[in-house]
Amino acid sequence: MSVTIEERPSVLAVDAFESDPRDWAPNEHINKRSSIPFILLHFLPLLALVTGVTWRAVTLAVVLYVVRMLAITGGYHRYFSHRSYKLSRVPQFVLAFIGTSAAQKGPLWWAAHHRAHHKYSDSERDIHSPKRGFWWSHVGWILCDKYNKTDRDAIKDFTKYPELVWLDKHDWVAPWMLGFACYFIAGWSGLLIGFFLSTVFLWHGTFTINSLAHVWGRRVYETTDTSRNNAVLAVITGGEGWHNNHHRYPWSARQGFRWWQVDFTYYVLRAFGWLGIVQDIRPVPAAVRDEARRLPPA
Ligand SMILES: [Zn+2]
Ligand SMILES: [Zn+2]
Repeated sequence: MSVTIEERPSVLAVDAFESDPRDWAPNEHINKRSSIPFILLHFLPLLALVTGVTWRAVTLAVVLYVVRMLAITGGYHRYFSHRSYKLSRVPQFVLAFIGTSAAQKGPLWWAAHHRAHHKYSDSERDIHSPKRGFWWSHVGWILCDKYNKTDRDAIKDFTKYPELVWLDKHDWVAPWMLGFACYFIAGWSGLLIGFFLSTVFLWHGTFTINSLAHVWGRRVYETTDTSRNNAVLAVITGGEGWHNNHHRYPWSARQGFRWWQVDFTYYVLRAFGWLGIVQDIRPVPAAVRDEARRLPPA
């Protein structure tokens, strides 16, 4: 098993920023034309004012938010980015496929960029540091052409599976299938609320970890970045809000290191572990967990 992320020293590198962060990447611009569909999708659910909203559609929205959030956190993040547990090939593909239905591009694209975030967190090479501006970290970097491609070298351990490479290239298949399914299950309301509204919530729920989880919350580990622990974000994202924990020890499948740090994704992984589908769930070493202490914000 090759994990490309290296453990970094547990120190606060507060003077790693020598230049004005706004000057870090002057060539990076949001592609306004290709951003239009993304922006318009945010307004589509408003058409439900015309079609009406059914309980069936609302139920669909809640279920699809939860299931797809878990596929992003447990799949794209804890599995494809960090390999914090093992899966055999079929469940690996199923997880990746459900992940693509969240319309956050393919698993290899997502994981390769996320590995880069851990490698360069909050340095000049971090693609979505809030030091470049809150909105850039939240959504701007996704709308920038520069980051459209998947860095295959960063995700070699998964490019050896042709089915994943195919899925990464055809990341539109699952969202379209799901959109049609929502229409057939619950009509226009199913499409507008069940699919589009839950997808918009899912986007911004996920994006908060790149933006808010680096500016809002408490730090307990001396990581070289600005990551924070935040209970509100942990609830929204099924456990990803314990982001300072996660930056301290990204190899752990569990991000809520303490019993009271609610981590729904981890509970689900454990359940799949009991079923024998998920194997070798990596824990956080007690010595790392016990380093926690109250720290001033970075
Ligand atoms: Zn981070
Ligand atoms: Zn991570």
